[in-house]
Amino acid sequence: MIDTGYLFSRDDKRIFVNTCLGCTGKCSYCYLSKMGYDNESIVSKIKTSEELIGEIENYGISTDTLITLGCFSECWDDNNKPETIKLIKYFLQRGNQIQLSTKKEVTIQEARQFEDLTTYLGQLVIFVSSATISQWNKIEKGTDSLNKRFNTFELSNQLGIPTVLYMKPVLNGITIKDIDLYKEVIKKYGIKDVVVGSIFSEEHSEETVHFSDKGLLYYNPNSDESQIKKQLMQLGNVKVFSRSSQVTQYYKEKNKDIER
Ligand code: SF4
Repeated sequence: MIDTGYLFSRDDKRIFVNTCLGCTGKCSYCYLSKMGYDNESIVSKIKTSEELIGEIENYGISTDTLITLGCFSECWDDNNKPETIKLIKYFLQRGNQIQLSTKKEVTIQEARQFEDLTTYLGQLVIFVSSATISQWNKIEKGTDSLNKRFNTFELSNQLGIPTVLYMKPVLNGITIKDIDLYKEVIKKYGIKDVVVGSIFSEEHSEETVHFSDKGLLYYNPNSDESQIKKQLMQLGNVKVFSRSSQVTQYYKEKNKDIER
């Protein structure tokens, strides 16, 4: 067990890694303040990749440990992006699978540096997060515009890096209103994988979040979530998941099948 804020892990199956604590995204539903993180002074809270790698190796992981970048930060903020890039390079070379979730654009040029280090399809999976299209500039106002952010889906078409539409958290009565717009985005970029997931809330439910043991946040699925899933599944050519880890597992299994 490790829980330093920058690192969280219960076992060697998965470790959450943050290159800083806090985010400039200003999303109205952000859970960071509930977890006690301050979004105003993140620059002073950046940790170097060398420090983090030292702590992770000291904690002890295997090549099967999933590296999850970002849960208490936006790992692709300008301030901490260079450290995130170094971590990705290190763990790709180490043989680990990596997932990165972001509301920023990851450009083709940036992602090219990972191309030669990736040994199988899905060793690096990028989740492009969006909870609303029509109200983006009110609800996710400090994040990249959707035009920029959704350019990240081109990484799948141009570099073969799996990208996933991450509709999380589903905001009651808000996300579902944009379902047709999301379908257009899926069609436009040829998106094959979508995660539709719940908002984290302080209301008690049976399941706590997987990046904290403090019992401050819980999964509380709402009915919009199942409606959205049903509609997206009807598209036929899209796989709809509830959790990001199901997507990484899917690619890992697929790779094992190819190896066999
Ligand atoms: S991008 Fe994520 S971490 Fe940043 S403010 Fe929005 S919800 Fe919070």
